[in-house]
Amino acid sequence: ISAPFLDDSGLHRVLTALTGAGHQALIVGGAVRNALLGQPVSDIDIATSSLPEQTVTLTEAAGLRAVPTGIEHGTITVVADGHGYEVTTFRRDVETDGRRAVVAFSDRIEEDAHRRDFTMNALYADASGEVIDPVGGLDDLAARRLRFVGEPRARITEDYLRILRFFRFHAWYGAKGAADPEALAACAELAAGLDGISHERIGAETRKLLAAPDPTEAVALMARAGVLGHILPGADTHDLPALIAAEATLGLPAEWPVRLALLGADNAAQALRLSRDETRLQDQIATALTLPLPAAAYRFGPHIARSAALIATARGTPPAPDWQQQIAHAADAQLPIAARHLMPELSGPAIGAALRQAETAFIDSGFSLSKQELLALALGQDRQRKSD
Ligand code: ATP
Ligand code: MG
Repeated sequence: ISAPFLDDSGLHRVLTALTGAGHQALIVGGAVRNALLGQPVSDIDIATSSLPEQTVTLTEAAGLRAVPTGIEHGTITVVADGHGYEVTTFRRDVETDGRRAVVAFSDRIEEDAHRRDFTMNALYADASGEVIDPVGGLDDLAARRLRFVGEPRARITEDYLRILRFFRFHAWYGAKGAADPEALAACAELAAGLDGISHERIGAETRKLLAAPDPTEAVALMARAGVLGHILPGADTHDLPALIAAEATLGLPAEWPVRLALLGADNAAQALRLSRDETRLQDQIATALTLPLPAAAYRFGPHIARSAALIATARGTPPAPDWQQQIAHAADAQLPIAARHLMPELSGPAIGAALRQAETAFIDSGFSLSKQELLALALGQDRQRKSD
């Protein structure tokens, strides 16, 4: 491979700290796969024959900082030139409870490759960029073929999350219309095993799945295989292709929360362990969809209004041609009156009620009502209420 990260001096310091002591140390997984595809690389994982304690000793002796971030899995984060590298000792699968594979340390790269999920994720590269391919991942990557390392059923029953990972990686790197039928059949047969996987792990994979440039085919395959119902009960995939098309026609970026909101699953917050902010975003998009676009922009800001515009377009009700101006105008608008302007004429809950009424009128007027008009409205209505 040739990739910009091969020029990082920090990466070379980590690798030579280990190889200088006679160990193997190789870049592995997503970094190698994406470099081969010419796609961006997010983080760099290193696999090594050195045991975790040796990794700490050797990298610290080389003047690097070693943080045991996942010591029980053999993972040390080594910081070099301000960048963190996850260094993990070669491992092999020993047994499993189906929720997570149980692993033991190994000093053989072949064993490490065999416990990885897909052949294209089991590619290694040394500091010079030379690729090591123990399980035939290069051919599969060239064909954009997601292939389990070993027999799909056996690999899935070790860790049922691999079902979801199959669809996630197919969405990102698989050839359209060419998903491996044997793997699909295994995913369909074993889908119920996903019920035993933690919401946190399901959530992490589902976010990445829905963030793919076009997850339509993968999601459709999941629905057909009966997998989607175990992840997101109640999800309706019908309008997903239209949403992907709308992102392009409206010129808006692809965002997984919008795709998730479109699917309208029963309890996504719990099923995916969404954070409080992510949950609020889902709720706000859902509410925005019930409002006219300017009202949505006024209440929730331009980002959520654009999300609602995308979903509305996907569902067949696109916004007016001047939707962008509508959103910009509404998001900038500010109600010219506040509680203090209504006192002393009003007090207590009457203030809130009058403000809400004024706000509705303000939105309905296209944000054109003046302070005087709004005051007259808010106070006038109160006088009327009192005289009733
Ligand atoms: P991304 O670009 O999304 O980070 P990645 O390939 O780095 O993709 P990760 O989830 O970060 O994916 O995992 C790193 C590597 O660890 C994978 O490439 C794979 O080799 C291995 N791996 C991760 N999770 C599993 C799993 N559940 N079963 C087997 N191997 C796994
Ligand atoms: Mg990764």
